[in-house]
Amino acid sequence: MDCLFCKIVAGNIPAQIVAKNDFVTAFNDITPQAPTHILIIPNQHFENIGQVAIKDEKLVGQMFQMAEEIAVDKKLTGYRTVLNTGASAGQSVFHAHIHLLAGRAFAWPPG
Ligand code: 5GP
Ligand code: ZN
Repeated sequence: MDCLFCKIVAGNIPAQIVAKNDFVTAFNDITPQAPTHILIIPNQHFENIGQVAIKDEKLVGQMFQMAEEIAVDKKLTGYRTVLNTGASAGQSVFHAHIHLLAGRAFAWPPG
């Protein structure tokens, strides 16, 4: 399958890996939108977070556990998680991912 994030999990495309276990990988976003901008993805390919939730609900929790562990490790005082699901919502890579953003103020409502 021609998937960018599957290639990052396999080590075929370089990325700055932040954390990895048997199920989930975290790496720095190539175009950071905040001082901390990390993508947290399942090692297995799912098109979006909705598909992860339907097919492996435990894996959704494992992704958010890694987000929290990174936040504790990096002593983040707060962080925003973003999940773009579908092209109309801004998803551009169709391998499920959580954006973990921190290190600046965030507006609400989001843009
Ligand atoms: P989406 O738009 O699907 O919610 O988020 C995809 C994210 O993947 C974007 O923030 C984009 O900067 C990031 N991205 C795209 N290509 C690469 C890449 O080759 N390496 C890394 N580390 N991030 C990428
Ligand atoms: Zn993939």
